[in-house]
Parts: sequence; structure tokens; C-alpha cells
Amino acid sequence: MYMWINTGPMPGFSVIIKENNLKKGRIKIDSDRCKGCLLCVGQCPKGVIKKGEKINRFGYTLAEFCDNGSCNACTLCAIVCPDCAIEVIEITEDGK
Ligand code: SF4
Ligand code: SF4
Repeated sequence: MYMWINTGPMPGFSVIIKENNLKKGRIKIDSDRCKGCLLCVGQCPKGVIKKGEKINRFGYTLAEFCDNGSCNACTLCAIVCPDCAIEVIEITEDGK
């Protein structure tokens, strides 16, 4: 079974993810690229990205990944990020 996700800030652009997506993942946010726009926060279906407290060398308050094990590597955050600051890492069965 599939569901459509509308990625909001990109009109007419949608992706399909599997509803039974059992993948696990985590993300890395590049602190030099992130401009703190927080588009990723609004798009994460698992609510695991939030506005952080760290400020990068350009003066932007960074988004922060709050790993609670529910990230499913759906990649929506990386798709929506206008600065290509997010890398999604799928965790394999052996936990790497
Ligand atoms: S969408 Fe990209 S630039 Fe914007 S806060 Fe998230 S990581 Fe930073
Ligand atoms: S990959 Fe998906 S679940 Fe994981 S942080 Fe990004 S938007 Fe959220």
C-alpha cells in the first residue's frame, strides 16, 4: 500500500512512500550549508527534526535531528531542503 506525500514548498511535486515502510534511518545536517529555514521540520512525518540551539559561523540557527529511533529514511527532509544540507543514512539490519 502506498500514500502520496505532498512536499508543500515545491508545488506540483510529490513523492510516493510505502505506508509499510519499516526502514530505519538517521540524518546528518551539514552545519555550513543549513540556513535555518526549518522547511525540513515541517516536512518530517516523524517529527524528529526541530529548531536547534546551535548557531553556525554564518549566524544561522541550525535545524537539529532528535533521534528517537522513528526516522524511517523516507528522505522527505532531504528533498525539501533548498540548500542540500541533509544527508539521509539508511540503517541496515546490522545497525550500521
Ligand atoms: S531545510 Fe535545510 S537549510 Fe532549512 S533548516 Fe532544514 S537543513 Fe537547514
Ligand atoms: S528521513 Fe524522513 S523520517 Fe527521517 S528525519 Fe528525514 S523526513 Fe524525518
